[in-house]
This record gives sequence, C-alpha cells and structure tokens, in this order.
Amino acid sequence: MPDPQARAWVEIDPVALAQNTRAIRSYLGAQTELLAVIKADAYGHGAVAVAEVVLAQGATWLGVATLGEAIQLRRAGIGAPILLLGGVDTAQQVQALLYWRVEPTLATWEHLRLFTQVAQTAGTILPVHLDVDTGMSRFGVPWHEAIPLIQAVWHSPGVRLASLYSHLATADDPDPQGVYLQQQRFRQVLQEVQRLGIPCPKVHLANSAGMLLDRHLHYDMVRVGLALYGYAPAPHLEGILPLHPVMGVRARITQIKEIAPGTGVSYGHRFVATQPMRLATVGIGYADGVPRGLSNRMTALVRGRRVRQVGMITMDQLMLDVTAVPEVQVGQIVTLIGREGNHQITAQDWANDLDTITWEILCGFKHRLPRILSASPVPVSLGAIASES
Ligand SMILES: *Cc1c(COP(=O)(O)O)cnc(C)c1O
Repeated sequence: MPDPQARAWVEIDPVALAQNTRAIRSYLGAQTELLAVIKADAYGHGAVAVAEVVLAQGATWLGVATLGEAIQLRRAGIGAPILLLGGVDTAQQVQALLYWRVEPTLATWEHLRLFTQVAQTAGTILPVHLDVDTGMSRFGVPWHEAIPLIQAVWHSPGVRLASLYSHLATADDPDPQGVYLQQQRFRQVLQEVQRLGIPCPKVHLANSAGMLLDRHLHYDMVRVGLALYGYAPAPHLEGILPLHPVMGVRARITQIKEIAPGTGVSYGHRFVATQPMRLATVGIGYADGVPRGLSNRMTALVRGRRVRQVGMITMDQLMLDVTAVPEVQVGQIVTLIGREGNHQITAQDWANDLDTITWEILCGFKHRLPRILSASPVPVSLGAIASES
C-alpha cells in the first residue's frame, strides 16, 4: 500500500515479477539455468525484493554490475551465487569478493594476476567467469586471444574456471546476422577449450533478446534482465512469452486550480491555455526520473481517464490538464506508468517518445521515490508466491 507520507513512489508488482520469472523458467530447458540480472538496483525495481521473488520462482543465479551491489544482497541475507559482471581492479576488492562469496568476471591477464595473488595469500580458490568478447567490444578478452588466457586460468592454482561466457551486441536487431557471427566465434573458442581438455562447468551467452531469439543460444544458463521486468527487448520479440510490466510510477495531486484562456503554465510558458482549464499540480518531476524531454508530450491516468501533461516538467512537480476529470481532488493518486481501468502507460511508451530504450527509463527513477510492493489485482500474496517454489 502507498506510503501515506509519500508524494510519489515506484510501485513494484511482485505477482507480475513472479509470473514473468515462471514464464521464462518454463521456456528454458531443464538443463538451462536462469541468472536474474539485477544490476542497477534491479533496473530500478529494488534489488533485494526482486532477488527474493526471482529466487523463489526458479532463478538460481544473480548478476550484478558492481561489488557494492553484490554486498547489498549479501547483507540482506541472500545466499544465492552472485556473478559480478563488471570489473574489479584492487586487492581490497578481491578480498571483499572472497569474504562475501561473489564470483567475478575475468577479462584480462591483469585480473588473473590479481585474483591468483589475493586468493593464494588467503589460502583459497576463487571461482572466476571468463568473459570472451565475441563482438560487443566492451568487457572481455577478444575471442582470438582467449585461448592462452583460458589455459593460464586452468593452470593457476588460486582460481577455478566456473564458466565461459560472452555477451551479444545486436540480439534485439531484426537481422540476426550479428548474433550468429558472435555465436560462431564463441563456438570456436568452446571447441578449442574442449579439444585441449580444459574442464569448463558452464557456458552462457544470451541476454533477454538472445533468449527469445533462438533456443540454440541458451546453453547452460541465460542472463536475463529486461524480460523479468515485463518488457520485450524489441517489437519483433513481443508475444513469445507472456510478460507483464512490474513497475508502476504514481504520484499525488498537490493542488488544483482553474486557469483562464491566455494563462501560461510552468517555466518559459511553453504551454498557454487556449480555453478555461482545470490544472492539477502533481508532486513528481525530473529529479525523480520523469524525463524533462516528455514535457507537453506525455499523458497520465487519473481516475481511469487519460489526461495530458502541460507545460515544462520541473524538478519536483509537473502539471496535468484535468479539465475532463472535474471530480478530482487534492490527494488524488495519478498514474504516470502503470494501468488504470482500460488504459496503460508503459516505460516502453516513454522510451519510444524519447527515442531511447526501455532499460534507460526503468533504471532512471531516482531513490528519492520509495519502492513499494503493490497489492495486485491478481489475489496472490507475497507469502503465497514464496511458498509455491
Ligand atoms: C545487463 C546484462 C545482461 C542483461 O541484459 P537484458 O537485455 O536486460 O536481458 C546480460 N548480460 C550482461 C553481461 C549484461 O551486462
């Protein structure tokens, strides 16, 4: 239930999250594990709450981008294996990895040197996940230089090769050519590893788009972010799985006024009323993550009706034209992202309007907005979900 103190909040629907996770889980073969990517505070949804739901629904691994994100999960009592997708560069960070049982990505000879040294000093063995760059040109050892590094990992006493992975650069492109070129490079590395007799317990390649594109990309594990949160990565990948948006964004009306024709609204008077208008001020703005670029373009839902936003969005407040909803009062909750009656506004709608991607919209909501678990229209409690696993 909404915090009675909050002027605006992000609402997380744990039932939708559980349904998405189950849909993904049942789409995968029994031998394919699900790594839930919960970096960036679970794409803005709240990492600890998301981790608890997805682990109860069949995810077996968690993926984060930073050591701090991993430690936050451990501190909250989450014991599942965690793969750190980003880099670590200091001995202190590697000591923290060992202490918190977080498994790092190994991408360079520097990593190997550092990991081996720290692990041996600590008298332990660090499981590492070797990232092969097959075409993303971001993190990872280039595929044509991978074999010597993999052999060195194999022969290093302080580390153990826990998985070999790669990341797809163009899996959401309708033309799959780039994906299959990357897969071919990855396959070359895997075949060479096999030929050399190097034991490798796990292989993984697919993100959400790769998972939906082709089952031959699933291997031993898929690393899924966006789909868990209820969105398809591209229009041509919609409808393959029933996915329900998990995040809602809501705020309260803080003032209502009638304005006369000719009255300018907000900074710069970039909107001027042409007729008498009922204007609602809402307590959310760009400092909360509502992009200023949506000014005079976005809509919101009020009492089940769609209304337009008018004037520039300000740091903490924005205005809605509620002329058509005369019954609204101060304190009324409005929906910026989410469903009301027959209407729905999604993060994807915002992304389309701004010519960006859904990922950026979801993780753009600031921590100034409390994260609240919603009561869902589907009558299932959190406890019921957790015990279903
Ligand atoms: C973020 C990330 C993913 C998840 O991508 P989605 O498109 O959100 O499914 C998977 N793998 C790596 C290496 C990532 O950085």
